[in-house]
This record gives sequence, structure tokens and C-alpha cells, in this order.
Amino acid sequence: MATIQHHFATPIYQAPLITRGRPAFNADLAEECEKIRAFDVPGQRWSEAFYPGGYTSYGSMDRLHRFSSTFDLLRQRIDRHVRRFAETLEWSLDHGELTMTDCWINLMPRGCAHSFHLHPQAVISGTYYVQTPPGASPLKFEDPRLSRMMASPPRRADARQTAHVSVKARAGQVILFESWLRHEVPASRIDALRISVSFNYHLIR
Ligand code: FE
Repeated sequence: MATIQHHFATPIYQAPLITRGRPAFNADLAEECEKIRAFDVPGQRWSEAFYPGGYTSYGSMDRLHRFSSTFDLLRQRIDRHVRRFAETLEWSLDHGELTMTDCWINLMPRGCAHSFHLHPQAVISGTYYVQTPPGASPLKFEDPRLSRMMASPPRRADARQTAHVSVKARAGQVILFESWLRHEVPASRIDALRISVSFNYHLIR
């Protein structure tokens, strides 16, 4: 009898960041996000050009874990999950330490989208969800083999494996993935604000 083995899986990690005190922590973060947006005029300008309709601090304040104690606490909490994820990836970390290098916020109102991209030079990237109103856009991943599939037939409508996978954004949850994995946030179709914090980890010697 034939056996078919499925190899080269692409892991996507999702977990609640903390078990206790989440509403208060997210309220602090949401408040701080609004303050940062109001104060960050260069970031507002950057967002007008590169993040239409929304606000991101990616182009102006992208090391928030070094700027604010709330974000540094978030970093400490994410660190634990990153270590756990690296464990499942079976990485040898003898030659460096997984370190958060970038941390920025994303405020998405209706119509705001973030098209497909990856995070060059980082090793693990991810997002923590602060506020996800009903109907908030998911995080959508692309099959990393897609560019090699130009001649493969389309899949059936009931196929279990598809070229894209959407992971629901849930407040209080952290999602981690390897930084080479392409992903996007489809345009928001709700008025209420979706708030998230994204980050990169590098292997630092
Ligand atoms: Fe991203």
C-alpha cells in the first residue's frame, strides 16, 4: 500500500499572550496607541503616503519597546512565546539570542489595508492584537511555494489546502511566524478601529 508523507510544513504560532489581567493591559496599550498617534506628526505624514486611511508608527517610531515601559512589558511577555516557537522550529541558538529589534503599532479604520509583504532580515515576526472589533480583518498568509506552482492545476472548491490561509485576529492573542512568510491584512470593512502591535526578532550575537 502506498503511503504519502506530508513534509515541509509552515508553522504559524497563535496563543493568548497572558492568562490574567488582559483587559487592563489592553486598555493601557490602546490608550497609549492613541497618544502616540496624536503626538507622532512625522508618523501621521508617513502613514498618509504609505498606509492610506490608517496610522502606523512603522516609518517613525519603530522601537516602541525602548520608548515606553508598557511596550517593554509587552516585549517581555512576547519573548516567552518567541522562545517557545523557536523550540518547535528546532533552532540552535548557541550563537545568538532572539531579540526584539522593532516594535510598532497599527491603527486600522475602515478601508485601511496592508498588502502582501515579508519582513526582510528578521527571523521571527508577529503581531499582538490589542483591539479587534467584530468583523476585524484577519491576518492572511500565502503558501510560500506559490511562486513555484505556475503550472499546477487549480484546486477543487472543497480543497483542504489552499494558497492562502486567514488567521482570525483576536484581542489578547499573539501570532508568530518566520519572517520570510508573506502575509497581508485585507482592507477593513468595519468602522471600529482595529489596533495591533507588530514586531521583528533578530538573532543577535
Ligand atoms: Fe507584516
